Amino acid sequence: MRALRAVLSLAALALLLASCSSPRELKYQLYVFGTLLDVVIYDADKAVADQAVAGISARFQEMHRDWHPWKPGLLTDLNAAFREGRSLQVDRELIALIEDGRKYEQLSGGLFNPAIGALIGLWGFHADDKPTGPPPARDKIAELAAAHPSMTDIDIRDGVVSSRNKRVQIDTGAYAKGAALDWASAYLKAHEISNAILNAGGGIAVVGRHGARPWKVAIRHPLNWGVIASLDLGPDEAMHTSGNYHRFREHEGLRYSHIFDPRTGWPVDHIVSASVVDKNGGLADAAATALSVAGPDHWLQTARAMGVSEVLLVDKDGGIHTTPKMQKRIKLEAADARIVEVKDPLAP
Ligand code: AMP
Ligand code: MG
Repeated sequence: MRALRAVLSLAALALLLASCSSPRELKYQLYVFGTLLDVVIYDADKAVADQAVAGISARFQEMHRDWHPWKPGLLTDLNAAFREGRSLQVDRELIALIEDGRKYEQLSGGLFNPAIGALIGLWGFHADDKPTGPPPARDKIAELAAAHPSMTDIDIRDGVVSSRNKRVQIDTGAYAKGAALDWASAYLKAHEISNAILNAGGGIAVVGRHGARPWKVAIRHPLNWGVIASLDLGPDEAMHTSGNYHRFREHEGLRYSHIFDPRTGWPVDHIVSASVVDKNGGLADAAATALSVAGPDHWLQTARAMGVSEVLLVDKDGGIHTTPKMQKRIKLEAADARIVEVKDPLAP
């Protein structure tokens, strides 16, 4: 797996694979953020599109280096500074990401919390390979949860960052892709690309339309790998899906997801997939993770608090929970799709 990643990563550095499948579509595939990014550009000059995608590739490599939760770089330096009670000067891109994370944590009432990096590492998810073996010791988990690391513990002054809580360890894995794709769509528009779609492991961002029609996207069936629903995304919309089937730890027949409830320090298992559509992809990505934590009984409250109104969740029994606004725009594609009634008359 590591070798495969290395090859893919080198391939990405070497260059982008461009091919034309329809006279008006230009397709590219890059390996970024440990995942494949597909870019389809519609109705643009090839030289202009090539250059814009090269610009995205270059910036994504920087983000990968600067925001990586465990490979040595700017973020691991900052986390080391937090542990040692020091401060560190960082660039404005990382500061903006920290500020967004703090805002989303507050909106979600702490269910989304990028300061729980130490916990994520303790569970073995700060490694390329899938963690194995029994869960970590209960008292270690309890100790990290009890330390209440929060993005609100972080002070930022003139680009210099410090934390009042030494247990704060930032992991931007739940919203960095959303922020990165938002940046990439804005970059495309600023470089004369008016119609495009970007798709990277659970995150999609749209620019303009696919000619006369909108861009059509699908939500994967989390239990059988087919498609559970499809929908059209309008200009500037993004959709982010958080799935506990993406990464997990398995031991004695039990699966432990990579999404944690910061209140307990234990992985959540009640929601297997959460998709959120919004024009702010960073928010949609953060909300998809927060709603996975909130679960079938509390997701609506959290969605309302975070200001997202287009949500589709699949619970562990395959039931679909959705907001009326989302329900109106999806087409169910799976024969076994079963919508669970939302009992709140004020649902968005
Ligand atoms: P996503 O696929 O967007 O839901 O992101 C999952 C990743 O976010 C995990 O692999 C962790 O790195 C991180 N994470 C897990 N639980 C949380 C949480 N409650 N709040 C913020 N980040 C989390
Ligand atoms: Mg997310």
